[in-house]
Amino acid sequence: MVKAAVDDQDVVRNVLTAVRPFIGRGKVADYIPDLARVDPHQFGFALATVDGEVHTAGDATTRFSLQSIIKVFGLALVLGRDSDAIWKRVHREPAGTPFNSLVQLEMERGIPRNPFINAGALVITDQLLTDRGDAFDAVRTLLRAESGNPEVQADTVTATSEATTGFRNAAMANLIADFGNLHNPVDRVLDHYFRQCALMLNCDELARAALFLARDGIRQDGSRILPARDAKRINAIMLTCGTYDAAGDFAYRIGLPCKSGVGGGIVAIVPSRYALAAWGPGLDQKGSSVAAAAAIEAFVSLTGCSIF
Ligand code: GLU
Repeated sequence: MVKAAVDDQDVVRNVLTAVRPFIGRGKVADYIPDLARVDPHQFGFALATVDGEVHTAGDATTRFSLQSIIKVFGLALVLGRDSDAIWKRVHREPAGTPFNSLVQLEMERGIPRNPFINAGALVITDQLLTDRGDAFDAVRTLLRAESGNPEVQADTVTATSEATTGFRNAAMANLIADFGNLHNPVDRVLDHYFRQCALMLNCDELARAALFLARDGIRQDGSRILPARDAKRINAIMLTCGTYDAAGDFAYRIGLPCKSGVGGGIVAIVPSRYALAAWGPGLDQKGSSVAAAAAIEAFVSLTGCSIF
């Protein structure tokens, strides 16, 4: 047990060494004006074991905007309530188009391709509003319980910044509503979506918060958030759809369920073993962090941990 802990710490240190040439590369998301001010020369990494030990490197205690990573937590809450009903409202196929594309939404009559593109997350947010009355509070409560930080908050400046410029998300929500696939008012769905995306965690907290996906759905307190088969299914959707239209390349390079966000974070799961969180604000052209992807790739090469 002690030896494993030392090894995990070595792995984290070696990941940091491997990723140094990539730190600062890429371009911070600037379509959300408030994210454009983040210093790209930051990098954090955390590895949480299923036993709850956490090893970190770099800026692992600096909080960042979760953005699309929050979609994993919203989906878990919806599936935990009812495993199957949501799949009448959202498909679970890779989109192959950018995360904010409207093209397929029109062709598929308001049924988004998967829950991790923006259109799908808007439907998940709508379902959370129906199930729980407050979608934002439901995901924040989950993060507070799982991350070890009972004071998790959203950055209201980021949420307002996105609400002011989020014309594409507004267009998407209106189109979905036009097809009858939103059950709550469009403005309310958008407000809860933007505030969820603006929730902040650091790598240490994010790795802890995602551990239930490595533990077949078991939370930090030993209770179950969702059936084991649904935890497995979320991992499958992360692998096939979690990194935008680069999911094929991520599966090829990394071979782990991953979810990225335009705040520069990526969470990755090694089922039954680890949850990993990496963060570097500079993004590649498809919207995933260059340094965080390099870190998870380095982790896989160093440890041989991959689902393939
Ligand atoms: N709030 C962002 C948006 O809706 C999330 C995108 C992302 O992280 O992929 O554009």
